[in-house]
Amino acid sequence: MLVENDAPLAPLTTLRLGGPARRLVTAHTDDEVIAAVREADAAGEPLLVLGGGSNLVIGDAGFPGTVLRIATEGFALDGTALEVAAGETWSEVVHRTVRDHGLAGIEFLAGIPGSAGATPVQNVGAYGQEVAQSITEVVAYDRTADEVVTLSNAECGFSYRHSRFKAEPDRYVVLRVRFRLEDNDGLSTPVRYAETARHLGVEPGARVAVGTAWTAVLLLRSGKGMVLDPADHDTWSAGSFFTNPVLTAAQYDSFRTRPGTEDAPAYPAPEGCTKTSAAWLIDRAGFGKGYGGGPATLSTKHTLALTNRGSATAEDLLALAREIRDGVRAAFGVELVNEPVMVGVKL
Ligand SMILES: Cc1cc2nc3c(=O)[nH]c(=O)nc-3n(C[C@H](O)[C@H](O)[C@H](O)COP(=O)(O)OP(=O)(O)OC[C@H]3O[C@@H](n4cnc5c(N)ncnc54)[C@H](O)[C@@H]3O)c2cc1C
Repeated sequence: MLVENDAPLAPLTTLRLGGPARRLVTAHTDDEVIAAVREADAAGEPLLVLGGGSNLVIGDAGFPGTVLRIATEGFALDGTALEVAAGETWSEVVHRTVRDHGLAGIEFLAGIPGSAGATPVQNVGAYGQEVAQSITEVVAYDRTADEVVTLSNAECGFSYRHSRFKAEPDRYVVLRVRFRLEDNDGLSTPVRYAETARHLGVEPGARVAVGTAWTAVLLLRSGKGMVLDPADHDTWSAGSFFTNPVLTAAQYDSFRTRPGTEDAPAYPAPEGCTKTSAAWLIDRAGFGKGYGGGPATLSTKHTLALTNRGSATAEDLLALAREIRDGVRAAFGVELVNEPVMVGVKL
């Protein structure tokens, strides 16, 4: 277990901003993870669990407690049952299941930055797939009960970019994630997303070679600055900064009375709700690609990513985020909600 004091956190995040950790602990085994959590909890010390730092906005004052960096390793495949340690790099996990084993189930989640252990936290998803569809169990340390627990898929409380782990942020530290993948003789799961289907030249619902699906997703993501590239400031982001708003029937009706909403994207969501597109709202509210003249701007490739052009502080980024949130509210009466986790700051 490596322990550092007053350790910079910005380099450990994909936004590359924010202040230092009072104490940074790097744990390489589950036992080290649990020991570090127990020690912090016993001392009444604030604890921040850190994976790849790709969904975090850390305030400029940093974190006044222990930041626990999960660096555990483990990839065990038995038939189509996969168990990975929380510290494994997610994009590598996906690549291995596709390249080495020809398995389907997570191929459309290629190129998403961060750790495997964080994927259940916000039910990571892209291009018509989300981890809730393939996770069977999550093994976690329960800080309240002080024991290791195994939660079934149903017990994880997954919904759109949400889970029990996000709902109870101070309770669970994910140690291992178990998936059930699919052996479709080298074919993918059905292509669900219209953009991917168009790119692949197939009808939605068709299957393609799993490696072809993986490559297509990486290409599409790269074109939007959604694959990490240290040389490209459009990828110095936390991915999508706002979730797609899910509107109740009444909210949706009121939204559609606003001028210019005739062609707003609309997708059915649970409980009679409608999901619309945050990127569309931002663009139509007047914040186009590259918007912002300062050290924090919208990505030049995607309106949904707020980026650090090199010298941005957390306050620079949040000022831009607030301007966009307020502009969308004024134009469309819709409240945008941040997707990344805020540490010591509020939108
Ligand atoms: C360029 C880019 C593209 C992205 N594209 C997508 C996308 O397509 N779809 C999508 O869903 N997301 C996307 N994201 C967001 C991000 O990659 C995911 O949310 C990812 O799962 C975060 O993983 P992480 O390890 O970096 O988590 P971190 O940023 O380190 O942490 C995020 C949250 O999870 C908690 N956490 C981390 N590890 C654990 C653990 N082991 N146990 C308990 N809690 C933990 C942290 O405390 C924090 O609250 C993108 C981000 C970037 C930068």
